Amino acid sequence: MPSARCLWCTDPPLSEEAVLKWRGDDRERLTVPLCRKHLERLRKAGEKGRETKGWYYKLGWW
Ligand SMILES: [Zn+2]
Repeated sequence: MPSARCLWCTDPPLSEEAVLKWRGDDRERLTVPLCRKHLERLRKAGEKGRETKGWYYKLGWW
């Protein structure tokens, strides 16, 4: 069942996105719901990603 809210806030998600989450050598490939604001932040962060609570996130699984 699709989540009714964004991964990082209470807004309704715009879409489900394939996201790479990493910290050092740890890597997780996730599909997460994101609202428009947070999707745009990840897009702007690009390849270097965006850090949240000690983990980095970027769009795409590679
Ligand atoms: Zn959000």
